[in-house]
Amino acid sequence: MTQSTGKTNLLGLTQEELEQFFEQIGEKRFRAGQIMKWIHHFGVDDFDAMTNIGKALREKLKASAEIRGPEVVSEDISSDGTRKWVVRVASGSCVETVYIPQGSRGTLCVSSQAGCALDCSFCSTGKQGFNSDLTAAEIIGQVWIANKSFGTIPAKIDRAITNVVMMGMGEPLLNFDNVVAAMKIMMDDLGYGISKRKVTLSTSGVVPMIDKLAEVIDVSLALSLHAPNDELRNKLVPINKKYPLEMLLAACKRYISRLGEKRVLTIEYTLLKDVNDTPQHADEMIALLKDVPCKINLIPFNPFPHSGYERPSNNAIRRFQDLLHKAGHNVTVRTTRGEDIDAACGQLVGQVMDRTRRSERYIAVRQLNSETDAASSAANRT
Ligand code: SF4
Repeated sequence: MTQSTGKTNLLGLTQEELEQFFEQIGEKRFRAGQIMKWIHHFGVDDFDAMTNIGKALREKLKASAEIRGPEVVSEDISSDGTRKWVVRVASGSCVETVYIPQGSRGTLCVSSQAGCALDCSFCSTGKQGFNSDLTAAEIIGQVWIANKSFGTIPAKIDRAITNVVMMGMGEPLLNFDNVVAAMKIMMDDLGYGISKRKVTLSTSGVVPMIDKLAEVIDVSLALSLHAPNDELRNKLVPINKKYPLEMLLAACKRYISRLGEKRVLTIEYTLLKDVNDTPQHADEMIALLKDVPCKINLIPFNPFPHSGYERPSNNAIRRFQDLLHKAGHNVTVRTTRGEDIDAACGQLVGQVMDRTRRSERYIAVRQLNSETDAASSAANRT
């Protein structure tokens, strides 16, 4: 576990919170902008490197504040340019962050929790159980670490990270305040300046928090649907028993209509062989989404040991896509990236500290998998 220093970690503070911080220590609010640029544009964590801050203030800051991201355990680069970081958070667990370059776009997939309590049946993150919410500093810290690894240039052009998806480990709406604070920093010009359309929160369907989200921030929304009817979704995504499809889609429609303009919902649908990939499921999905402005992202399942699920054949994937497409939907099939570094969609595992034995040892999911199955670890997370 990371030791607390008792100092205020400025990394996770929004501009407004930083202004309040400076007021509280008897300094001018404009200092917030200066510090944010040093932290997020230049990746600086040493107050002495901040050349436009006087020595007296630097000393004051050193006494009461710090800039501390999560500890980087590893960084891997795939042959296709995908990168993956494993970072250790204060609870002692590890989470993963993945960068996927594609043409002029670079998407960073960020985790919001260590483990997850929602236990979706096809998801390895869920199988680890829940360990901890990440702090705002640990969430934005993943962007900070990735940005630094590309060389931090504040210019608006040639930016490596153009898009962020809150689609890594965890259910972001169950760590609401910290996720919202981190997304504000992502979109702030003094932070990473990413447009609201290019910051996407993906949820499995925590209905009350979808409404709350619309009240506090304007970001794109993705729904992890995975099933076109309640009976099947109750099995695959158990939170559906609490917030069934009718209620969920109504909340999603309210969310995107509040945003105005021509915003659409992204539907994430993991295709599981003979479970949710038949023409009948496609027809049900067409009926379900008939008045939902959306684009659909199909994700062929990435198998992992003992999951009990299989990836559909390419023919079955194409057939499913064609049926949706003929009904007028914008449908893409997610291609697998970063497989050689276990960074493909659904392969985010991390290392979640066992809540019942947290002082004794970690559960190393990769080790467990290799011991029991002699296979590489993999998991499904969408
Ligand atoms: S799919 Fe998402 S919400 Fe479901 S268990 Fe996995 S991380 Fe949690």
